[in-house]
Amino acid sequence: MSSGLTSCPGSRTPLQRFRSERSTLNAGWLAASQSSGPAGPAANGRPPLRAGPRRLALSVRSQRRRERIGAGSFQWAARARRGANERAGGGASAAAAGGCEERLVAAAAAATGCGRRRAAMAAAEAGGDDGRCVRLSAERAQALLADVDTLLFDCDGVLWRGETAVPGAPEALTALRARGKRLGFITNNSSKTRQAYAEKLRRLGFGGPAGPGAGAEVFGTAYCTALYLRQRLAGAPAPKAYVLGGEALAAELEAVGVACVGVGPEPLQGEGPRSWLDAPLEPDVRAVVVGFDPHFSYMKLIKAVRYLQQPGCLLVGTNMDNRLPLENGRFIAGTGCLVRAVEMAAQRQADIIGKPSRFIFDCVSQEYGINPERTVMVGDRLDTDILLGVTCGLRTILTLTGVSTLRDVKSNQESDCMSKKKMVPDFYVDSIADLLPALQG
Ligand SMILES: [Mg+2]
Repeated sequence: MSSGLTSCPGSRTPLQRFRSERSTLNAGWLAASQSSGPAGPAANGRPPLRAGPRRLALSVRSQRRRERIGAGSFQWAARARRGANERAGGGASAAAAGGCEERLVAAAAAATGCGRRRAAMAAAEAGGDDGRCVRLSAERAQALLADVDTLLFDCDGVLWRGETAVPGAPEALTALRARGKRLGFITNNSSKTRQAYAEKLRRLGFGGPAGPGAGAEVFGTAYCTALYLRQRLAGAPAPKAYVLGGEALAAELEAVGVACVGVGPEPLQGEGPRSWLDAPLEPDVRAVVVGFDPHFSYMKLIKAVRYLQQPGCLLVGTNMDNRLPLENGRFIAGTGCLVRAVEMAAQRQADIIGKPSRFIFDCVSQEYGINPERTVMVGDRLDTDILLGVTCGLRTILTLTGVSTLRDVKSNQESDCMSKKKMVPDFYVDSIADLLPALQG
């Protein structure tokens, strides 16, 4: 990672200072948090900044803001120094102690005026002052892997983006399998069955069982939603669900005996609201299930609300992800957008199956017999993967190949909101390929 450090600002013109500061800002602290993320300035297609009178005026404001950021970094590093001293006296773990050493470097760098941005960079490398979000070096990875026997991976943004594997990720998982580690794949994406995910894992080089046992490592929300409905609708004669979702979700539900209606396009019928409400409903619908549905429509929304007005009808959402990342930093609207629409219209809250809900972890735990203390959760989102891991007592690794950035972590660490403070990983890596050196030693 490039530090992007430049010489200290001296008696330069405002334009020179602006250009220097802009370069430092882009290549420094912000680059530390966004270099591996999909949504940097270039990825957004924004034109490069041009210096001019308005830009010069903005530079003054930006300079003040950067000074505040620098001061904040200094305070952060100083808190880190105090925390490191306390932890050193208390016999902190090797990994935490390593992080403390790096934060001490950050604090020392902060002691000089020119070192404030260097301190911000070092602090980003070292993690926060709570001993969490430490870069997972090869040495730390070796120590961590010696302590765990199960690794749970999110898929989108961790193993692959769209149909492209993250470089080095297949090799890392192959090496983990060779070391005898048990792997599990927990995904909020409901657009594939377990078997389809197993086939994609093998196609992209991640290995895994084939044949009748294919899919045993995969815990997608389509499969886990089926398990949930099997529990909730037990005893109901011929249960049926209205599904705002795809064929995969319907296939998993039908595999546990829940018949599905509503899959596929459903355009508006009739001339206006009265005729929309006259469209016939299926009998015996006991649940409305909302997953990823590219055919989501106003007609489906109206029907879902009408089913939910019937006594005892469940509202279940596969997940609340707001975005689904694709290749090259692009994304599409996620299932959470559709769940929210139904919740708003029905004035009901959905039961959510996917991360960070504990239900999906319970599904894994039931089939794997997991010991949380010897399990690691690896993900690219703080509000789903990392929060699930923290809530369930797992160790957590954030990978920067997907949605969340180090800036998001820092924001959570500095937040006064307790729920945000939970969304901080123990470790972070640029990519899960960073595990390879520890596995090749
Ligand atoms: Mg993800």
